[in-house]
Amino acid sequence: MAKEVTQPPQLLRGMKDIQPADWPYWHRVFDAVRDLAGVYGFERVETPILEASSLFNRSIGQDTEIMEKQMYSFVDKSGDSVSLRPEGTASVVRSYIEHGMLNLPQPVKLYYLGPFFRHERPQAGRYRQLWQFGLEVIGTDQPVTEVQLILLARAVYQVCGLDSRVQINSLGDKASRTAYIKALQAFFRTRKSELTEEQREVLLKTPLRLLDSKDPKILELLTDAPQIVDHLDDASRQHFVKVLEYLDELEVPYVLNPRLVRGLDYYNRTVFEIWSVDDELGQSALGGGGRYDGLVEQLGGRPTPAAGFAGGIERLVNKMKESGVVPPVWHPEVFLAQLGEPARKKMLKLFEALRSEGIRASESMTKDGLKPQLEMANKLGVPYTLIIGQKELMDDTILIRDMENGIQEIVPYDKAVAEVKKRVSRVQANSIRPVIGQIKPDRVDLTDKLEDLPLLAKDHDPDIDNE
Ligand code: AMP
Repeated sequence: MAKEVTQPPQLLRGMKDIQPADWPYWHRVFDAVRDLAGVYGFERVETPILEASSLFNRSIGQDTEIMEKQMYSFVDKSGDSVSLRPEGTASVVRSYIEHGMLNLPQPVKLYYLGPFFRHERPQAGRYRQLWQFGLEVIGTDQPVTEVQLILLARAVYQVCGLDSRVQINSLGDKASRTAYIKALQAFFRTRKSELTEEQREVLLKTPLRLLDSKDPKILELLTDAPQIVDHLDDASRQHFVKVLEYLDELEVPYVLNPRLVRGLDYYNRTVFEIWSVDDELGQSALGGGGRYDGLVEQLGGRPTPAAGFAGGIERLVNKMKESGVVPPVWHPEVFLAQLGEPARKKMLKLFEALRSEGIRASESMTKDGLKPQLEMANKLGVPYTLIIGQKELMDDTILIRDMENGIQEIVPYDKAVAEVKKRVSRVQANSIRPVIGQIKPDRVDLTDKLEDLPLLAKDHDPDIDNE
């Protein structure tokens, strides 16, 4: 009987592996978020990926696109209806209430970093598992909060090498939003003949979504449509003016965007997005946020105003790559090369000794010939290679080769760590280290220079081809 052909397993649609070559970018983002969140006084919180489905039903809003189409929900083995979290704010608010954080000095400032799940139609820049960093400030209604969220988010983008612009709007309170929805529905009813069947349905159920539409016909109609800023209640208007005053004072570039409404039900007053400067239409917003003053109460806590921001990490990394940002990468300071089994044992020991002294060594313990090992050292661009060949093994010495000028020195094996430390500290003092606020490769690539050098100095050849 013919053998059944089995296909190798594949990624699910819309999912993606973060491969080794991507990690320098991802680490750059993680480090920037962690460092800057700390600077702005945020503490980390991580909530589970799986939550009771009711959490999202109660917070995000039944008629939103996420709840209607994108939830990964199922009944688990205990018979509970559970969901993979589609966003972070609802979970953080649950955690705030559940752990009595309202008894802490307010506001409580929290940040998180992790994967979220939305069953979206896969397309460029849209994934079904997406990573976000999120910032939440719970327990204050001060307009300065939104401004600090914007400053922190923009600082993250700046450290990641991107220039960004703020899009901002205000939704007002519940009453002003309801009044605006009525005005918007009345406007589109007079143009009903120009709407598709689907758009009429949206007009009836979730009219604010028309503002997000990319349909050119709707875009044209919207130029005459009423704007939400004209329906704001007085308190929300004053709040919004204050937010804009701070932004002006700090010279943060922003665009007043009357079409910006954000997708979720819990937002009120200020909403904003951050776009990269070259993204004129917000096709791939880096992140978005706003105020959600009613959410804590809606989820069973006492009334507590709050605001937050969430930034997409895949989008950010894609943008960094597109813009030619070079993230700092891990560079070994020495390379260990050995010839033969007894030398390998000595090198294993030396690797451990170097590691405990904080020296980053790269090695090729699985290789036997010296030639491929030295080629690897060349490729890595290490400043020094340590070699134990047959002669060194016999003399209980080690050869230290300066990869830049080809000069080699023989030192006793038991002095190797001290000798390497001396040399490496010289290299570190001369190299550029990444600093918050700057993007620079932390070391110059030496590979090209090394290609011209003979592999080993003439006066000593530790048996390259003598295996
Ligand atoms: P949202 O929670 O929808 O406001 O999204 C905040 C940010 O997360 C967006 O601005 C995007 O950068 C990112 N994002 C949202 N959905 C996706 C997705 N399906 N794939 C990749 N990134 C996403």
